Amino acid sequence: MTTETSAVPYLEMNDGRRIPQLGFGVFQVPPEDTAEAVSHALSTGYRSIDTAAAYRNEAGVGEAIRRSGLPREDVFVTTKLWNSSHGHESALRAFGRSLERLGFDYVDLYLIHWPVPSRDLYVETWKALTEIKADGRARSIGVSNFNVSHLERIIEATGVVPAVNQVELHPRLPQAELRRFHSEQGILTEAWSPLAQAQVLDEPAVREIAERHGRSPAQVILRWHIQLRNVVIPKSVTPARIEENFRIFDFELTTDEMRAIDRLDTGQRIGPDPDQFSLA
Ligand code: NDP
Repeated sequence: MTTETSAVPYLEMNDGRRIPQLGFGVFQVPPEDTAEAVSHALSTGYRSIDTAAAYRNEAGVGEAIRRSGLPREDVFVTTKLWNSSHGHESALRAFGRSLERLGFDYVDLYLIHWPVPSRDLYVETWKALTEIKADGRARSIGVSNFNVSHLERIIEATGVVPAVNQVELHPRLPQAELRRFHSEQGILTEAWSPLAQAQVLDEPAVREIAERHGRSPAQVILRWHIQLRNVVIPKSVTPARIEENFRIFDFELTTDEMRAIDRLDTGQRIGPDPDQFSLA
């Protein structure tokens, strides 16, 4: 096991703060297993954890960070506001509850989980997040699952550009147009389901590149993200995979290998269409 953390680059956000380019995601990690998985990630060297109110495991994330003995400021913590908490007052209350569950007095990054256009409250919700940032309880603020039109609307209404947009992104759905818009606006692209929930690991092109480098298919996909300048947050509850996914900073894909992975684009989503999704 490595405890080498310096290997993970930090990317600068548009508010001057920095985010580790590799983090650890805990979607679908059962609450009772979360502290153990996060502890293993921290001892492997991960210094960024991605949770959400909807995952019901914020308490386990906070517990593992406290147990690690690491200074709070050494770990970058992201959580998200769920769909049922849109609206100004609801957002402020939801944020307070997330802090309580985590057991912290601030988070590093607070995201609106989905835009929920059918409720049409995401502009108001974004304004609440700008207040939370102003009082320092979220060091940075951003969004998740926003498309170009949602982003344009919140920027136009508030003048505040999200630091990050966390979206479904993997070789089958490389989100080229959205990434272009992000880079024009100075928004970092964060990839959720970076491994397409393991569905792209058997692709012959990926296996061939992996064999050439003596790496696993998952390492090759994560390396593709890193070279695209995405922030990535792979999830695993398997200690050996948690370690494997961390070892991606000591090899490089060639331009041809990057292109071979780009060709796996089918436009196929794993998750719902952000324009339609309204689960409360
Ligand atoms: P991932 O693409 O990270 O894939 C996770 C799956 O891949 C798990 O089944 C895991 O298995 C398996 N896996 C992980 N590493 C390896 C490996 N090295 N070799 C083989 N299999 C591997 O999918 P997620 O959907 O979990 O996305 C990652 C994170 O993104 C989430 O945890 C969450 O933080 C975030 N997310 C955000 C969303 C949003 O709306 N903002 C939506 C979905 C995810 P096992 O655990 O059994 O080892």
